[in-house]
Amino acid sequence: MRLRLNGTVVGARNVGPPSAAQEVEVLYASGKQLFKVRAKGCVLACWNMMIPYLCPELPEAQKEALHYLVKVPLVYTSVCIRDWTSFQRLGIQRVSSPGSYWSDISLNSAVNMGEYRSPTSPEEPILLHLSRAPCKPGLPAREQHKIGRYELLTTTFETFERKIRDQLVRTLSSGGFDPARDIEAITVNRWPHGYGYEYNPLFDPDWPEDKRPNVIGRKPFGRITIANTDSAATAYTDTAIDQAYRAVNELLRG
Ligand SMILES: Cc1cc2nc3c(=O)[nH]c(=O)nc-3n(C[C@H](O)[C@H](O)[C@H](O)COP(=O)(O)OP(=O)(O)OC[C@H]3O[C@@H](n4cnc5c(N)ncnc54)[C@H](O)[C@@H]3O)c2cc1C
Repeated sequence: MRLRLNGTVVGARNVGPPSAAQEVEVLYASGKQLFKVRAKGCVLACWNMMIPYLCPELPEAQKEALHYLVKVPLVYTSVCIRDWTSFQRLGIQRVSSPGSYWSDISLNSAVNMGEYRSPTSPEEPILLHLSRAPCKPGLPAREQHKIGRYELLTTTFETFERKIRDQLVRTLSSGGFDPARDIEAITVNRWPHGYGYEYNPLFDPDWPEDKRPNVIGRKPFGRITIANTDSAATAYTDTAIDQAYRAVNELLRG
């Protein structure tokens, strides 16, 4: 096996008609150069919405199905605070605030690994985990995800910081928290394409299994198969492994 890291695939096509193809041709970019390789098969394990651009010869209905799954944007933020005595005084570990800028604020999970030890005393510094799924209430879920992505593009760090200070003081000040004194550092991680799309009965039809966009989208196309959590319309790693297993087996059977 030869692994080629840092290569971005820009095209994948069956050599000959898909129903009779014995090989695929993959075009990838590495640095400023383009390379072409041939293989007996190829699994596209990237985001579903990119596949129609990489593989324009796919049937139109399949391309449309692949575009249906709009990833969910996420912001995961870490805030280092000088101590967590305010949490101790309030008797809380986690705050859930649906509708607020940060929907969830919690003390970092306790992890002891190798030489790393989590703080055990409230007098010690700790990281807070804050999360936000940018959205636009009132619109269908997939539209909300797209608008949330634009919000991530246009939000400055200063805005995130102000929202952090504002919400933490409103949540914790009665426990003695002072943002000017207690916040030591902030890291904002923006994930424009965070979680995979999961069907929502408020907005998505109740399709029979074989009509679901993820099922239509993951159909093998000659010697090209399709993995990624998008092809199961779920968001989690266990599914990514299951879908990769399916996609590899489709090639082995073909
Ligand atoms: C902030 C965050 C927190 C999460 N927390 C959890 C959790 O706690 N538990 C959990 O189970 N899951 C979690 N997930 C979800 C988990 O990360 C995904 O389910 C999993 O990574 C999906 O794996 P995948 O192989 O389907 O796709 P990805 O991990 O998205 O992998 C796709 C790969 O394809 C590559 N790629 C894309 N296009 C090309 C191209 N043209 N050429 C070459 N390579 C390409 C990408 O670089 C990427 O490496 C989290 C996700 C996020 C964003």
